[in-house]
Amino acid sequence: MSVRVRYAPSPTGLQHIGGVRTALFNYFFARSAGGRFILRIEDTDQERYDERALRDIYETFDWLGIHWDEGPDVGGDFEPYVQSEREGLYRKHAAELIEKGLAYKAYETPEELEAMREASGGYDRRSRELTEEQRAAYEAEGRKPVIRFKVPLEGDTSFEDVVLGRVKRKNKDIPADPVLLKSDGLPTYHLANVVDDHYMQITHILRAQEWVPSGALHVLLYKAFGWEPPMYCHLPMVMGKDGQKLSKRHGATSAVEFRRQGYLPEAIINYVTLLGWAYDDSREFFSTADLEALFSLEKINKAPAVFDYKKLEWFNGVYIREKSDDELEELVLPYLTADGLVSDPPGDGELEILRGAMPLIKERMKTLGDAPDLLRFLYRDVHDYDITQAIPKKHDAGQTLALLEEAEKLLEGFDSRDDEQNEERFRVRAEEIDTKIGNLLMPLRVALTGSRVSPPLFGSIRLVGAETAKQRVARAKELLREHMATTE
Ligand code: GLU
Repeated sequence: MSVRVRYAPSPTGLQHIGGVRTALFNYFFARSAGGRFILRIEDTDQERYDERALRDIYETFDWLGIHWDEGPDVGGDFEPYVQSEREGLYRKHAAELIEKGLAYKAYETPEELEAMREASGGYDRRSRELTEEQRAAYEAEGRKPVIRFKVPLEGDTSFEDVVLGRVKRKNKDIPADPVLLKSDGLPTYHLANVVDDHYMQITHILRAQEWVPSGALHVLLYKAFGWEPPMYCHLPMVMGKDGQKLSKRHGATSAVEFRRQGYLPEAIINYVTLLGWAYDDSREFFSTADLEALFSLEKINKAPAVFDYKKLEWFNGVYIREKSDDELEELVLPYLTADGLVSDPPGDGELEILRGAMPLIKERMKTLGDAPDLLRFLYRDVHDYDITQAIPKKHDAGQTLALLEEAEKLLEGFDSRDDEQNEERFRVRAEEIDTKIGNLLMPLRVALTGSRVSPPLFGSIRLVGAETAKQRVARAKELLREHMATTE
């Protein structure tokens, strides 16, 4: 049978990076096995349903460039792919289980259930063996029943998991008789999920490990319906570096946050696919096309994966450097506009600066969001900065002023030399005055950019223009003098 897998998000929150990992594993598995990848929207929890979360699913995968073969937007042979449009099917199957004696109507009120939870920690199966008369009495009271599944009281249930091996659970440890159909006639996750996976002919279930405890219950449901369960493949947890489940405390967790910070889809796809999967011991870089060909279930790890933000940043830098200047310009521009550095739409002059700066900042950017700070000095004068940044280690302001004056002299005729020649000039002078070249460059860098971190200095001077550079040096000298006056 050819592989059919699904990503089945509930639109209750923004796409978590862990969810993206689940989707990618499903997608790459489908592609590498010549199968089909399906999107199914599990929106049966009306209270937590969020319209924005639904939009975010589409926007996230559009941005990543990941497309499903069947889904609400593209259709398919098993429509509809939205659970709220399939309610009749779930009701029919809940009724079928009642008929088989494998499910029952339960009439407890929320208050009664709460009291039960406090007394015994869960449902006490009170309605499991109601007589016809008792049921009629409840109905006469106007109570609306839920439908509960009769979990066998003895024995155990197990399933084979591609990653975890055989997973076995005692039936008495499965929560007592989970609700399948709520009193409003809507299904719970368990019923809808099992019914849909069956009717959509899903062959493999790749999902997060937090669903392992539901596995045995689902297998019992498949049995109750007389269906064959799909293969299970529960994916390793994603942790922060402290060994705790990845959460906001660690950093960004939603795909849209990473996107806003300026991560590239290529980097996210590559890095996230390595959370619990490895091709071999060494290879780290994979394009989407590589993964479509190379992904395999056998190489999924059991051990939890650690989300290393620094490593993702590094991946992102690598992918940024792979972009052509033109591509990068286009990617960076919205960040500059949002920051107010360039107008919207940008003027020709502003674009020209950007074009010139691209080769300089490409090497330094870890995310697209770094661009405004790296480029600010090109678009804005620098005056309100902390001049003490210009003071090299073991130097004072007076010595720094002298160094800056040296640097200023070295800038004479700057435009007639190339970067190498300029650098040589600084190097030679530094030797003559017995200092490190960095001590000549740092004060100049701060004067020019207002910061100790900037794109390469000589390229930056060229972009700003030697004239402006001189004015900024003059301003820095003034600031140093002021600083000396106030610290005397
Ligand atoms: N709707 C569930 C979720 O949001 C799907 C779990 C599953 O894949 O079975 O994670």
